[in-house]
Formats: sequence, structure tokens, C-alpha cells
Amino acid sequence: FPVVAVVGRPNVGKSTIFNRIAGDRISIVEDTPGITRDRIYTRAEWLTNEFRLIDTGGIDMGDEPFMSQIVQQAEIAIDEADVIVFMVSAREGLTEADERVAKMLYRSKKPVVLAANKVDNIEQRSEIYEFYALGFGDPYPISGAHGTGLGDLLDQVVANFPDVEAPEEDDAVRFSFIGRPNVGKSSLVNAMLGEERVIVSDISGTTRDAIDTRFTSEDGDEFVMVDTAGIRKRGKVYESTEKYSVMRAMRAIDDSNVVLVVLNAEEGIREQDKHVAGYAHEAGRAVIIVVNKWDTLEKDNHTMTDFENQIRQEFQYLSYAPIVFVSALTKQRLNKLPALIKQVNDNHRKRIQSATLNEVISDALALNPTSTVNGKRLRVYYATQVAIQPPTFVVFVNNPEFMHFSYERFLENQIRKSFDFTGTPIHLIKRAR
Ligand code: GDP
Repeated sequence: FPVVAVVGRPNVGKSTIFNRIAGDRISIVEDTPGITRDRIYTRAEWLTNEFRLIDTGGIDMGDEPFMSQIVQQAEIAIDEADVIVFMVSAREGLTEADERVAKMLYRSKKPVVLAANKVDNIEQRSEIYEFYALGFGDPYPISGAHGTGLGDLLDQVVANFPDVEAPEEDDAVRFSFIGRPNVGKSSLVNAMLGEERVIVSDISGTTRDAIDTRFTSEDGDEFVMVDTAGIRKRGKVYESTEKYSVMRAMRAIDDSNVVLVVLNAEEGIREQDKHVAGYAHEAGRAVIIVVNKWDTLEKDNHTMTDFENQIRQEFQYLSYAPIVFVSALTKQRLNKLPALIKQVNDNHRKRIQSATLNEVISDALALNPTSTVNGKRLRVYYATQVAIQPPTFVVFVNNPEFMHFSYERFLENQIRKSFDFTGTPIHLIKRAR
């Protein structure tokens, strides 16, 4: 998907516009307990065009001086985006900081659409002319407060999207390693491709900083490894800002069917690991938890079980994800990964016949017939699978509100007991019939 970044000095209204464009998208995302929602990167669409939106203003630069924050944010936008929305404020007029950003954007040669915000009424329209001096053509007058002007602005953004051919449909499984800095993502990428039995057939840098490596495993299965981590950028912003690495992770998640969440055995589980994992879960991808640097621990009979329990405790929403303990350094268990990735990918795309599914549902009902909410009793009539990636089931009932949360869990568990859904979330949708 094309990536659009919103840049501009602080207080021009970037976040307001970001939220307006992202709109309902953000509010409908399910909330996973324990995950801080940050809104720096989101899916958005205009007309039939789906794209990704980055609010560089949301990237926390710590105590950097004012101007250097603006510069760094513009750099990120230039690196990441296909189209840049450069935002200025008609109320405050042209400032030195605007001109500084303009120079950088100009040199970048990326398509830039100039948005003059805070044009809240017709009279203020005349205040946008001074922005022609920035050299990006017509400024688009918009109002974050009223939401006006966004249509024309987005038309212009979409008109600047690069032409990309649709990726070839093939059977290769797309996967990526994600995780906070230093857990060993790049080392895992290199170690896996360095395995003797892996045949690398093609490496291609795509337009936006991801490297796709196609390879065939020992079992003859085809994979595409999406590597956004391996690309090291200049400047410490890339290393140090958490939100930036989360953004990278979200990009990789978008591009993959299977996401390998990498933890560092040496350092244990950190808050940032949970953010990254939460995004993978919410995106509905197949997930494997990879504990890297397993070579660094002194181990006894309990070490693995203890670590596993801790993961289950901290990542309750990922209870479906298998855990593998590996070392990029010694290559311990790396040879297990391709088959596991293949398995969870198959599960992620699995279809269950309605007849078979309904047998499982009737058995479940026989085992545990009652769910009541406030004394109202649930009736379950029928279930059917409506989607894959992830497997999504609609359950027809007398009234969705009568299904207690714990009963939903119970049904999910019964389905999981009957079919192998290791590594994939499954979604249950309740419908009244
Ligand atoms: P990334 O930021 O997640 O891509 O992490 P890197 O792959 O750059 O690794 C960070 C550091 O951890 C480097 O110094 C690696 O050599 C080291 N490292 C990576 N994997 C392992 C491992 O399995 N065992 C040990 N002992 N060190 C590792």
C-alpha cells in the first residue's frame, strides 16, 4: 500500500487531520488489554484507494531542540513515504520552520501536497497565497476543526500515488521478524538465509525500504522473507525512538501473512515487546513467538518452562501462538522455523466445511448448553465460516447479547480442540437470526 506522511512544524494541526483522515478506522479496532494505542501509523482509505498514513508529529524525539525535531521528523517522512502532505497554518502564516522543512522536502524529490490548515471560513482563504512562495504549487485550504477541504486534498494525494503492479499471486508464504531494537532480528534473517539447505532464489529491494528475499526450504516450500529491520538508517532517531520501531513493525506486519515476534532471552520481556506483539495480534496475522539468544542463558530443567509460563502470562492474547527458543548465533532450532511457519500459514488459511463445523458446535452445546446474561438465555442455531486469514466464523443466535464472554471463549476452545488452528487467531462474529 502507498504510504502517506503528514509533516509540518508543531501546532499546525497534523494530529487533528491525521485523526480525521483515519476516521472511524481507528475507533473500530478492538482494544487489546495492556496495549498502548498509539496513532502514529494507521490504515486509511479515500474512494477506493487504501493507503497507510503516518503522523510524524507523533514520533517522540525526547528532549531534542525544536528545530532538530522538525528536521528529523521530515527525514523520516522522506524516507518512508510515497507522498508527503506538508502542512502549514494559515492562521500563523509562513514561518522560518516551514521554510526549513520546505527546503528538505524540495531536495527529496518526493511528491509533496501542500495543505494550508486552519482555514475555518471563507475570509481566511486569502491568507493562503503567501504559501505559494514555498514552491509546491497550489496550497490546499483545509480546516481540521470543520473537516472541510479534505476531499480535494486527498484527491491530489491519491493522484500522486506511484503506479504499482499488483504483486504476483503465488503460494509463497510471506513472513517477517518483528521486535524492538537489538532482539536479533537482522541476525535471524541472516542466519536463516545462511542455512545450508535453504536455497535463496531472489532478493529484491522494493520501493519502500523492505527487502524481499525469496527462498525454498529443505521441504521444498517457498517463502518470501520481508525484511524491514535489516535496513539500517543513519541518525540515532531510528535506533532510539520506540514509536519509530513500532511503525517499522507495523509495516512488516502489513506485508506478511505470518509474523515472528522476536524476544530477547537475555533481557527478558519488556513493555515494548508487548506493544509490538499487540499490533501483530490486532492485525489478525498468524503469529509465532521466537525467543532468540537462547545460548546466553545458563539453563536447568526449568528454564524453558519458566520462560514459557512467563510469556503466556504476559501475552495472554497470544495464547494461540507457538513458542520457539532459538539462537541466531549457534543456529539452534532455526531449522525448525520453515515448517512451523508453513504450518501456521496453512492454519491461517484453513477452511472448515459448514457440516463439520456444526457437528463441533452441537457437541459443544451438548457439553455446555447454557449461556445466560441477566437471566436471558442464549440459543445457538448455526455457524458458518465466512473468511480466512484469519479464519472467521459467524454464529447465528437468538440474541448476540445473551452470549457471555466466557461462553464465546468456550466455543472458540471447542473449535480449536477439533481443528488445528495453532498460530492463528480465530474470530467469532455473533449474529441474531
Ligand atoms: P535487531 O536490532 O533486532 O536487528 O538486532 P541485531 O540482529 O542487530 O542483533 C543485536 C545484537 O545481538 C548483535 O550484537 C548480535 O550479534 C547479537 N545477537 C543476535 N542474535 C544473537 C544470539 O542468538 N545470541 C547471541 N549471543 N547474540 C545475538
